[in-house]
Amino acid sequence: MNAAATPTDAARTVVPVIEAVNLSVGYGRIPVIREMNLSVRPGEVVALVGPNGAGKTTTLNALGGYLPALSGTVRWKGVDASAPPHRRAKDGLAFVNEARSVLRRLTTRQNLKLARTDETACLDLFPELRARLDTKAGDLSGGEQQMLSVGRALASNPVMLMADELSLGLAPKVTERLLIAVRAAADDDNVGVLLVEQHLNNALRFADRICLIISGRIEFDGRPAQLKENESSLVAAYLAGDTDALREIAQGSQGS
Ligand code: ATP
Repeated sequence: MNAAATPTDAARTVVPVIEAVNLSVGYGRIPVIREMNLSVRPGEVVALVGPNGAGKTTTLNALGGYLPALSGTVRWKGVDASAPPHRRAKDGLAFVNEARSVLRRLTTRQNLKLARTDETACLDLFPELRARLDTKAGDLSGGEQQMLSVGRALASNPVMLMADELSLGLAPKVTERLLIAVRAAADDDNVGVLLVEQHLNNALRFADRICLIISGRIEFDGRPAQLKENESSLVAAYLAGDTDALREIAQGSQGS
C-alpha cells in the first residue's frame, strides 16, 4: 500500500461480493432505480442513505434477487447472478429486512433452530437473548427481535449481509449494539455489508463507504471523510428532505 492509500483503496482491487452494474429496476416498466453502479467488497461496510422513496429498499430487493432487472445486471462474487433468493441465501447472502424477519409464534430457540443457526454463536453476539430462548419471538421487545434477526443472520456465517433499516424504531443504545456487531462481522470475518441506514450520523460513523441515492440515482459514492467538511449542511438537508441541496452537496463532495 502506498503512503496515500487507504484500506478502501486496497479493497477496490478485490472482486466485490455483490455488485450492481448499470442496473435499472422498477415495479412496472418505469424504473425506480436507474443505471445504478454499486459494489460491496469483502470486509467492507457500505451504507446506502437517501431521502424517503429514493429507492433504497428497491435496491436491496433487486440485489437480493427479489425484483428482476429492467436492464443491467447484478453480479454475485463476480458472476452474473441468476439464482433465486433461496439459492443466494444458501450461497452466503443474509438479508435482514424492515419487517424484523422473525417468526412471531415460534420461540427464540425455535427461530434459531428453524434457520439451522448456531445457537451459541448467536448468543455470543447477543447474550441477553439467553434468558429469552423460550419466549415467543412475538413477545420479545423490538430490540430483542432485531437482535434475533441480526444474530441469526450473522451466526449463519454469511459472506454478505444486507440489512434494511436496522435501527428503525429502536433505542439508540440497541442500535449501537447492532451496528457494532455488524461492523465486527466485517472486520473480523470479512463479511461484506450493505446497510440501508436512516440515521446519517450512524452511517458516517460505522461505514467505510457512503452511497447517497436520490430519486433512484447514486449521487455520491465515497468515504465518510469526503463528507466531513460539509457534514452539518448535509445532515440539515437530509433531515429536511431537501433533495436539491443534497444533490449539490453530494456533487461538491465527490471529488474531495
Ligand atoms: P423509504 O426510506 O421511505 O423506505 P426507500 O428509499 O426505501 O424509501 P423504496 O421503498 O425503494 O424507497 O421506493 C422507491 C419508489 O418505489 C417509491 O416511489 C415507492 O413509492 C415505489 N415503490 C416501492 N415499492 C413499490 C411497489 N411494491 N409497487 C409500486 N411502487 C413501489
